[in-house]
Amino acid sequence: GQPLVETKDLTVDFTGGARPVRAVAGVDLTLGAGELVALLGESGSGKSVTLRALMRLLPERRATTGGSIRVDGRDVAALGRKELARFRGGTVAMIFQEPGLAFDPVYRVGDQIAEAVMRHEGVSRRSGRARALELFERVRIPSAATRLDNYPHEMSGGMRQRAMIALALACRPKVLLADEPTTALDATVQIQILLLLRELQREFGLAVIFVTHDIGVATEVADRIAVMYAGRIVERGDCRDVIRAPAHPYTRGLLFSRADHAFTKGTRLRTIPGSPPDLTALPPGCAFAPRCAEAMPACSAGVPEEIAASETHVARCILLRPGVQSRTDATAAA
Ligand code: SF4
Ligand code: MG
Repeated sequence: GQPLVETKDLTVDFTGGARPVRAVAGVDLTLGAGELVALLGESGSGKSVTLRALMRLLPERRATTGGSIRVDGRDVAALGRKELARFRGGTVAMIFQEPGLAFDPVYRVGDQIAEAVMRHEGVSRRSGRARALELFERVRIPSAATRLDNYPHEMSGGMRQRAMIALALACRPKVLLADEPTTALDATVQIQILLLLRELQREFGLAVIFVTHDIGVATEVADRIAVMYAGRIVERGDCRDVIRAPAHPYTRGLLFSRADHAFTKGTRLRTIPGSPPDLTALPPGCAFAPRCAEAMPACSAGVPEEIAASETHVARCILLRPGVQSRTDATAAA
């Protein structure tokens, strides 16, 4: 069927500083109901900005969005103020690393969820409360009825995460955007939250975009993966294939931290040598070239196109072009 999320050549330019900065540079993402894609990359690679663009949460005076974003068949850029208010929460919802961003500290958590339902669906307070209770039970918050009356600070970190998931699902969205939702939690709680998310995703047929630094988390939950560098997706496709046989030198650098490739949760991306890209002064062509052991003059000639690396994934690296030989392979052969 029709994809739930489809971006074409999505760009985001920040114009507030001395020089405009292209934070997202031509992202194509397609996602159907019940699918989960993980966005992987270092900080500053454009993952969170991409999520915010999908929900039109970027400051419109300082950020210019180009290309197209369609969510559930609608052009996100064309939504009017009222439609946008309904769209946020009702079609697309977001969860964050810090639940404090989702909840107002001075109101009871249950009231905030009930309010969201009332505002979106025009229902009574009683129905709003009933939905909040149902959701608290669904995300397995113990003593749900009592906990609805908690203020955010009265909950543990893991419980606040569950409450934030309940809030995100309150208006029955079709798409859930998750920005490092489990990064701040300890390992045991993190696993519980991930399992819960995957369960809810399947139960409600949610399309989920999951931003993470953690390869173990990505392999645990994702159907597909997209690796971002300097605002661009440099490799994407079936999660297991990308992890097993990464084709882009950047993805390889991130992943080859363990010889056996057995990534468990907590396996952070490896820090690779060289400086993170300066978005105000990117080199021409492949932005990864200054850090790439394979770089050759042709890499600077233009942004590499997506080339099939396997039947299920593509990468933007000229080494995949027919007849282009890897320098390190050549060295090894000599
Ligand atoms: Fe490295 Fe060139 Fe491939 Fe870029 S295109 S990743 S610089 S080999
Ligand atoms: Mg981020």
